[in-house]
Amino acid sequence: MKYETVKHRGRTLRIPVDDDGYVPQDALLGRFEEWADKRDHIQADGSTRHDPRQSSRGWKDYTHRSETVLPAKVTPKQAALWWHNPGNCDIEGIDTPGRPKRNTQGHGTKAQRAALAKIPVTAIELEEATVRRNLLQSFTNDELTRLGKARVKIHVYPRTHTAVGTYESRRNLVTVDRKHSIPQTTITHEVVHALRDKDRSRRGILAKSNIPGIEESLTVAEQEARNDSPGFSGYYWDITVFDEKTRRWRGPTNKEAKRMAEEDHKLFTGGRGKGLRGAAAMESVSSNWSKSHIARLSYKSKGKMAVNQATGIYLGIEPVSKAQPRTSKKKAAGGVSVPVSRPTAVAAEKRVPKRVKGQKTVKRTSKLASNKTSKPKVMRTAR
Ligand SMILES: [Zn+2]
Repeated sequence: MKYETVKHRGRTLRIPVDDDGYVPQDALLGRFEEWADKRDHIQADGSTRHDPRQSSRGWKDYTHRSETVLPAKVTPKQAALWWHNPGNCDIEGIDTPGRPKRNTQGHGTKAQRAALAKIPVTAIELEEATVRRNLLQSFTNDELTRLGKARVKIHVYPRTHTAVGTYESRRNLVTVDRKHSIPQTTITHEVVHALRDKDRSRRGILAKSNIPGIEESLTVAEQEARNDSPGFSGYYWDITVFDEKTRRWRGPTNKEAKRMAEEDHKLFTGGRGKGLRGAAAMESVSSNWSKSHIARLSYKSKGKMAVNQATGIYLGIEPVSKAQPRTSKKKAAGGVSVPVSRPTAVAAEKRVPKRVKGQKTVKRTSKLASNKTSKPKVMRTAR
């Protein structure tokens, strides 16, 4: 990378510069992130302890528009005041939202570009391009058109540490954390929520449920079906497993949670590991959900598994009975092999109490990407 040396209030700043004379977008993002994270790690007393109360510095800056807003294209000289301290002013799209974008050049066929153009994305161009690539990878033209007709919009921004994405039905709004806008998983998860909600042609378990555990479980299932790699959704850590050694029910270890996500991904992609779209993705969810790990999700349900909550609502969903191990019996029945290993399913009533909250938070934020859906306000205190 090339740098330009700029004098600013008696200091010498080295600011990255592109061949066109402007500061590259990823350099601006990098500087903003560095500044936002600094408060997280270096305390007033000089210690490096992480302080969650301070972890929203970037989010706070982004949601408050400064009096001075610089354009996204800035020369190193123009950027100096901001580069020295991003709290001084804002750069459009970096630490204050810019206008929604509809750039579709270079994305797929003419029909795909037409569908994409109906979905506005608020982000910098770099992020917008990734979001649009992910949309094309996970969804058919027809599905994208339905999203556009429902006026669904996407906003990428620096969220707080508690959520990587949200979907708000009332505002037709999908938000994705800036750090999670690159992989396919987060955007797919939130857009699946949007389709389940807005696509009126969906029926049964493929349509939105107002029961949080069922809605999240089926959204994770469809996310796995549509992605090319396993999505380590935080909900995998909310599946209870049977410990053969202690003969007790407990939460999964990190290793177990990840393995369940990998096995579900295999199950929902028909063993190929390559993401499905449209009808194929939905059919896979319909036929495989009740035998998946994520069907045993216990979320906001007083310990009841999603599959057992669903039994009373939908036809053809078999409950998981207490301590019934999911053996390879079903493998012989044909179709996709059910990849379940031990630990096994658990009856909700017999669950051990959940782990201590603090412990959980640490795991969530440090080890995995958790996809939550609710209003941002709720997010910060949720779970
Ligand atoms: Zn969700």
